[in-house]
Amino acid sequence: MASIPTVKAKGLRACLLCSIVLSQADFVRNGCPNCEELMQMKSSRDRTQNCTTTAFDGVIAVIDPENSWVARWQRTSKYARGIYAARVIGRVPADVEAELQSRGIKYRVRDEVDQD
Ligand SMILES: [Zn+2]
Repeated sequence: MASIPTVKAKGLRACLLCSIVLSQADFVRNGCPNCEELMQMKSSRDRTQNCTTTAFDGVIAVIDPENSWVARWQRTSKYARGIYAARVIGRVPADVEAELQSRGIKYRVRDEVDQD
């Protein structure tokens, strides 16, 4: 389970793919609890910088795994519990986008509030 950071703590970043909010240190230490397979942030500060952003808002603590497209591509509803950003500005790196495409997954830029 992902640790739940204090929202006002410094250094919080949101994953550009699943929008989970963790401290940069957590991303570097453990990678993303949902999409590390694609993002490969673990132990890479540079990669973490590219795959996460501080440009997020609308932090929410509850998500609906059934409606999560990330959960769908994982073929599981085991979305890590934690804090998620309702809106994340930015795009995943091109290689991640290409990997999603190769798996037949349509990447949705998460800079709009989810409508589905
Ligand atoms: Zn993620």
